[in-house]
Order: sequence, then structure tokens, then C-alpha cells
Amino acid sequence: MDPFYLAVTTDDVGMDGYSTPEHVRNLLDLWASENLTGTLFAVPRWDGREIGASAEYVSILQHAVEQGHDVAQHGLDHTRFQTGIPPKMVLDLPHEGPAREYLANHRDEIAAAHTVDKLRHILGTGRQILEDALGVPMRGFRAPCLSTCDQLFEALEAEAYVYDSSAVFQTTAWDLINDPDRDVAPMPVTRELFEQMQTAGSMWTWPISAEYTWYLKCEHAERFLALAKHDFEACLSAGIPFVPVCHVSPVQEGDAGQGFDLYRKLMAYVRQRVVEEGKRLVSITLSQLCAEWPPNGK
Ligand SMILES: [Zn+2]
Repeated sequence: MDPFYLAVTTDDVGMDGYSTPEHVRNLLDLWASENLTGTLFAVPRWDGREIGASAEYVSILQHAVEQGHDVAQHGLDHTRFQTGIPPKMVLDLPHEGPAREYLANHRDEIAAAHTVDKLRHILGTGRQILEDALGVPMRGFRAPCLSTCDQLFEALEAEAYVYDSSAVFQTTAWDLINDPDRDVAPMPVTRELFEQMQTAGSMWTWPISAEYTWYLKCEHAERFLALAKHDFEACLSAGIPFVPVCHVSPVQEGDAGQGFDLYRKLMAYVRQRVVEEGKRLVSITLSQLCAEWPPNGK
């Protein structure tokens, strides 16, 4: 039976305002109850404080790794422009007004800072902080605010990361976050796009499908669930991994229970559809996916 890979991910672990230890524990409980193995993208240093300074986060993450989950690197300080420039859909978010203005006035200066050497230093600093704190190797990367540039991918390759997961298929999800009542058709998700998103070199790119649970409100839950199902179906028919992202606190800070509820409904749907298609559902970390891809060595 051919495998179908599902790689759930969460971002901003350790970042005040978007993560608390309790919220990380809740999310891990959800994954456990749904039999999911996932990847936690952790912020090495937030507001000058390294993640290793929090014994609570360290113990939660080490325990998660023991349970089979993976911890990967989410930038260094989670600032907007450290590793590149965020895509328009991110800059369009309501809270990104100051970033939009800063970018408009400093674009050349920002771009000039993105040399491969500087980016290698940023990557290496963040990686060391996480590895020292957790005692596990960092193999994967996701850019904060999805801020990337060509030199970032060169730097990741030079630093021997095995994958990057900063690309996105379903950018319309962010349009809906901005304006949930907007009339917008979903973007296609195809094998061809998946191949095009791969960078030169040996590093894998695991594109995110989308974020469906950003402070989710009851009245928008159905629309985001429909989009999640659409993206899953497209991945299923294209034979590519389905990699949704949620953010640690935002998935729990919408209307009561809505974010987790969306995941439970989505998972029930995914399980049923994968069986109907005669495939085997494999819930996997992005690191493991690098070892298993392509399925059956094809
Ligand atoms: Zn982030």
C-alpha cells in the first residue's frame, strides 16, 4: 500500500505572545489523542532571552522528542527581516503595519544585510542555542514570517540543513485571515509546483499547505475547514506530503475550542479519504520525511 504522508507542524514555540508552555502541552495532547507525530518549530532567542533559560520549555521539548516528535529551528530572534523579506500575504496582515512602513523606507538596507555569510552566522547562532538547550540536532528550518531570499537557501545548504519548510502553497489562507468574508478561489496545489519549489542542492523543501486556525472564529471555521480539505485532497491526488501549520497560542486563542476542533474534523476526514484511496496514512516529522522521500524509492 502506498503511503500518504501527513506532517503536522507548529510555529513560534517559545515566543511570548504566540506561545506558552501550557499551550505547547495542550497541542502535544491534541497530537497524541489524534495519533499524530509532528514537528515543532522553536524560536531560539526571543527578546534577548534564549530558550534554554526556560527549564519548562526545555523539558516539554525534550519530552516531545522522546515521544517521537521533532524540534526544528524557527529563525534566530524571530524578527521580520533577519532572514529575508516576508511575502506580501504576511505583510498584508493587520498587525504588520509598522513592518510594511519599515520595509518601504529601508528596502535596500535590508536586502544588503542578506549576504550568505551573515545568514550563515544567523543560522549557526540559532542552531547552537537550540542544540545546547535541548541536546538534539537541528536538521530543519522554517523562516520566521516566511521571510526568505535566495541567499538564505544558499546559506541553509552550506550549513547542511536537510530541509527548509518556508514555502507555502495556499497563500489565499492568509487573504482569508485578513478578510474571512472575501470571495477568493483556492490556489492549485500540484506535483509540478512542489517540484518547482525545490531548491538546487541536496536540501528538501517541504511546502506548507497553509495556516487554517489563526485565532479562528466560529463563523469562519467552516470556510477554513473547507480550504484545509481542499488542500489535503490536492496533496492526496498529487502524491505529495500534506504539511499544515498552526501557531501554538493562536490555534487555542480563537473562539473556544475552534482551532483544535478543526484539526479533529480534518483528521477524521483525512483518515477516511486515505483509506478510500487505498493508501496508508503515515504521520511523520519533516526530518523523517527526508529519509523516506520519495515513497518506495521512486
Ligand atoms: Zn513564526
